[in-house]
Amino acid sequence: MAITGIKGFNDILPGEVEKWQHIEATARRVFELYGLSEIRIPILEKTELFCRSIGDATDIVEKEMYSFVDKGENKVTMRPEGTASVMRAYVEHKMHALDPVARLYYMGPMFRYERPQKGRYRQFHQIGAEITGVAAPTVDAQVLTMLTHFFQELGLTEPSLQINSLGCPCCRPAYREALKKFLLDRIDKLCDDCKRRYDTNPLRALDCKSAGCQEATQGAPSMLDHLCAECGDHFDKTRKYLELVGTPYSINQRMVRGLDYYTRTTFEMVTTMLGSQSAVAAGGRYDGLISSIGGPQIPGIGFAMGVERVALLLAEKDFSRRPDLFIAALGDEAHPEAFRLMSALQRLGLAVEIDYEGKSLKSQMRRADKFNSRFTLIIGGDELARGTAPLKNMDGGSQIDVNLDAASIQAAMTGGA
Ligand code: ATP
Ligand code: MG
Repeated sequence: MAITGIKGFNDILPGEVEKWQHIEATARRVFELYGLSEIRIPILEKTELFCRSIGDATDIVEKEMYSFVDKGENKVTMRPEGTASVMRAYVEHKMHALDPVARLYYMGPMFRYERPQKGRYRQFHQIGAEITGVAAPTVDAQVLTMLTHFFQELGLTEPSLQINSLGCPCCRPAYREALKKFLLDRIDKLCDDCKRRYDTNPLRALDCKSAGCQEATQGAPSMLDHLCAECGDHFDKTRKYLELVGTPYSINQRMVRGLDYYTRTTFEMVTTMLGSQSAVAAGGRYDGLISSIGGPQIPGIGFAMGVERVALLLAEKDFSRRPDLFIAALGDEAHPEAFRLMSALQRLGLAVEIDYEGKSLKSQMRRADKFNSRFTLIIGGDELARGTAPLKNMDGGSQIDVNLDAASIQAAMTGGA
């Protein structure tokens, strides 16, 4: 029996991978306009890193991590997200010593043991960005504007940006108590998970998808009404800067995010097109994260987007590539000439195909059709003798004779033949 892949772990095949490459290239291009540099972090980390940063009472740490003990008896985890690793690297390499401001992005696979379904997998991919060292709300607006810019560059009108504030250690405890008080009478309606974390993480009930939790939290107090003066001011200024540059957003007071490290601004890019997999990107400010993993007290903000979900939003668009030229060769002498020209043209930077086995003209033209090349060149015995051959523009239909040397063919193709 043939061995299959593991459930929730996907192959990304040619035909689909071009879309991924386009998403990645767009992210690099846009993020670099905002001064970000790439950082590459390992896939395996000490389990403790995620417990300490993401939080013990979160879905990720409680039930989704791929953790194991390695041959050296070390507890390790395949990263479920990137922020903790990026901040671990930032602290470990003392990047803050030279300049606390680091602007970083990463891309790569993440691992969570979840129930696989459309838009939710066990190995999935994130592109994320992090900016450390600035507490000012200009950076919140900058990060949100960059994320919006990225989706605009992809030509997507969905997803749309929702923002909220989760306050800070100064104002959140009072809000938690107010929320717990509100939920106390309705605790029976909460799902088992939210019942269990009523004490440890009551805010999660606000964005829990279960019907009971949604009903129980109707009319619940809002964090925004409980922000301290500083957090309130930060939220107002973030909004002002977003409006200044025309970044559209709406406020979602129920958005609490699933990770413990968030403070103040939190946000999601949401779509209505992927069912309950509605968050395409998500993030927020994490002013206490760097110190919680043993670094200095330095603020930060960032997000991660799910590449599979972005790819699903781009499902209708065609990213397939076409070669520049297909060379058809007729006969034993023309075939090596086609091979020679192909190689010379590839060195000049053109994508060229031939039929490796030199089959009949009909089967070669079928291949040319399949490749959908922009030009075709047909070489037979007569053409070899003349030293010229017809170059056909497959889009415009026009045809000219070209000399059988790479430079002439390239000139004819770029000259709009
Ligand atoms: P969800 O509510 O959908 O579980 P999340 O809050 O767990 O998302 P984050 O941890 O904030 O998500 O991760 C950021 C982004 O990564 C998500 O918005 C989503 O696009 C993507 N993502 C998260 N988990 C998965 C998964 N299992 N499969 C595919 N993409 C995922
Ligand atoms: Mg999740």
